[in-house]
Amino acid sequence: MNHQKTALITGANKGIGFETARRLGINGFEVLLGSRDGQRGMKAQSVLKTEGLNARFLLLDVTKQDTIDAAASFIEQEYGSLDVLVNNAGISLEKGISPSRLETAVLKETFETNFFGLFAVTRAMIPLLIKSEGGRIVNVSSGLGSLERNSSPESASLLALAYNSSKTAVNAMTVQFAREFKNTPLKINSAAPGYTATDLNGFRGTRTVQQASVVIVRLATLDENGPTGGFFEDTGPVPW
Ligand code: NAP
Repeated sequence: MNHQKTALITGANKGIGFETARRLGINGFEVLLGSRDGQRGMKAQSVLKTEGLNARFLLLDVTKQDTIDAAASFIEQEYGSLDVLVNNAGISLEKGISPSRLETAVLKETFETNFFGLFAVTRAMIPLLIKSEGGRIVNVSSGLGSLERNSSPESASLLALAYNSSKTAVNAMTVQFAREFKNTPLKINSAAPGYTATDLNGFRGTRTVQQASVVIVRLATLDENGPTGGFFEDTGPVPW
């Protein structure tokens, strides 16, 4: 058995997920790079390996249960447990469509990845995380999922029913799972990386992926006194 800590990051082939994998690799983790595409996953693996990091691509489409099951079996056989799960894979589809014009199909597709996919991966990996001495789950949410920020009269939050509500639902999942495991070493939190320049927003974000990954890495590496069931950005807690 390998004694280096292991971290699985979904959607790790680019953007915030890739940078998070790099940072966790630098922190001494063996990083398992979840990617739904073999070529993109292998490319990410080879970049991190060139940097001297212990990185391994894993085929993982969060909307395809067979790839989730195969990834969980692989981790079980190779490592016996999992220390960190970063649920990072996410999509944003509505591109400025107002709530009253949103197609149900777009709402469903967004939830399929951002919410149901995150749930399916979490459910499959929990048995492995429980076997770790101190498992950590970081759900990559968004400040756009904050109901308080969305509903404040002077809200500057983007109006995006599908994306924003999928992240609100992710936060609800964080709270529910954290309650279930509150008397165990497992800690489960939501992270808001901030508006970051990635493919998700046509690189219009104002923050770098390095800045975005800070809060995610912090929550992935919490010690036993750290919080669980919370929602954080790099400056502190985010209102629900
Ligand atoms: P990104 O560059 O578009 O990366 C998204 C990643 O998710 C890609 O690796 C993508 O894979 C993957 N992905 C999408 N659907 C998937 C699926 N079904 N199965 C597996 N992987 C899938 O976007 P990003 O900005 O880094 O986003 C990462 C996370 O941060 C998302 O959850 C996003 O909602 C959140 N976030 C982003 C911002 C921001 O301003 N950028 C702000 C707050 C929160 P492919 O390459 O195959 O498409």
